Amino acid sequence: MRVLVVEDDDGIAAGLAATLGAQGWALDRVASLAAGWAALQAEAFDLVLLDLGLPDGEGGTLLRRLRGAPSGRMPDPQTPVLIMTARDEVASRIAGLDLGADDYLTKPFDPDELAARMRALRRRAAGRAQPVLAFGDLLVDPAARSVSRGGQPVELSAREFAVLLALLEASPRVLSRAQIEAKLYNWASSIESNAVEVHVHHLRRKLGDSAIRTVRGVGYFVPQEGA
Ligand code: CA
Repeated sequence: MRVLVVEDDDGIAAGLAATLGAQGWALDRVASLAAGWAALQAEAFDLVLLDLGLPDGEGGTLLRRLRGAPSGRMPDPQTPVLIMTARDEVASRIAGLDLGADDYLTKPFDPDELAARMRALRRRAAGRAQPVLAFGDLLVDPAARSVSRGGQPVELSAREFAVLLALLEASPRVLSRAQIEAKLYNWASSIESNAVEVHVHHLRRKLGDSAIRTVRGVGYFVPQEGA
């Protein structure tokens, strides 16, 4: 999943990149409101982590602008936003939530708590309450990063897991190769031209050919149960 971090503190940004990157989130970081807005216009992010005190103004300004953006183009005004605030910024936290932030954390925070809140926001954005995704006998647990089919554990690489999760969350919609790539790779990554095909090939080998369907020239999808 693609995450935009708007944070001017290098130490905090590096900590987020290390801990969340290791859990398979593709993070891009900017350090100002202006760069944050430019990034949101250029890329479809699944989630925004927003610092409130930025060199060119208040994080709330970006949030207000995002929530006020027209639907149907970038940036998506529905993009979930978690604000990161200092402990004494109670008033800004309240203001942030009222401006449309979905959640907040006070610094310093536990990276595991942040990751859990991010998973919760992602569930909510996908319109589901259950933490484990079930498709027939296929069970995927984003918190444990585990997958089983018919009760048997299936070992997936971090990228394979990310491709599967993106397809399951989009199901039954079709995701294009470019849309899948955008969820897997941040700006700093170099992408092999056939990377998504290779991951899908491996997923089919491990989960069965019918788990992921191809729409020729368009992309891939996971059919809903019984479809
Ligand atoms: Ca700051």
